[in-house]
Amino acid sequence: MEENSDRTGLSQVRRVILVLSGKGGVGKSTITTELALAFLHAGKKVGILDVDLCGPSIPRMLRVCRPDVHQCDSGWVPVYADAQQNLALMSIGFLLEHPDEAVVWRGPKKTALIGQFVSDVAWGELDILLVDTPPGTSDEHLAVLENLRKHRVDGAVLVTTPQAVSTGDVRREITFCKKLGVRILGLIENMSGFVCPHCSECSNIFSKGGGEELAKLTGSEFLGSVPLDPQLTQSLEEGTDFLQAFPESATFSSIN
Ligand code: ADP
Repeated sequence: MEENSDRTGLSQVRRVILVLSGKGGVGKSTITTELALAFLHAGKKVGILDVDLCGPSIPRMLRVCRPDVHQCDSGWVPVYADAQQNLALMSIGFLLEHPDEAVVWRGPKKTALIGQFVSDVAWGELDILLVDTPPGTSDEHLAVLENLRKHRVDGAVLVTTPQAVSTGDVRREITFCKKLGVRILGLIENMSGFVCPHCSECSNIFSKGGGEELAKLTGSEFLGSVPLDPQLTQSLEEGTDFLQAFPESATFSSIN
């Protein structure tokens, strides 16, 4: 009984990292997924808590759609993306009757579910739990922080695209982290140029460097840039492991 209850919640989770973005569609779930896979390949035990309740993408990106979430003595059993059970997932996507079902919930209901995701899931022993959040600073963010405060948040990784419209929103995210005392681990610029599938040359179709510039301006660490890469899109669409499928790609080294 003692052993079972130890697996519940985050008591055996060493690090908790939030992945935040100011805007939707900038690649926050993509970065969460690829970071998780990179840690997994480095021999870590990893978890992803998907609290993007209205747009859960993690189940699809890892191709674990509609498995049964079941209950054991120590709580909800997370869904494992790999046979060795080293990549644990929890997402509202696993609880919906139909993948097209819309989640039209007010704040308190979202807060309650996030509380359960944090406290009632048998996360067990993990090196890192990545929390994929919705864009902006909403009920979900506050609920996550309230629930995680009992444990500990090690910090946040912020994702932006290079353009000013995205970096502007990330500034608000930085203010949010400072207000709530969340350490900023650094910024990642995603969709930083486009890698041609024919010649592998990288063109800066948006702009480049906005993330790095913002990191300098705000005194945050710049963690690196990830180009827009059709092979990465393909892996995410098919739910295959990009890092295993395309180890020669330039994007592989930027993620790793
Ligand atoms: P967010 O979580 O910020 O809403 P997603 O991670 O869902 O954004 O990404 C939006 C779309 O862009 C997804 O379809 C994903 O496949 C694609 N995408 C994101 N980053 C890249 C990238 N670096 N290269 C190719 N496709 C990407």
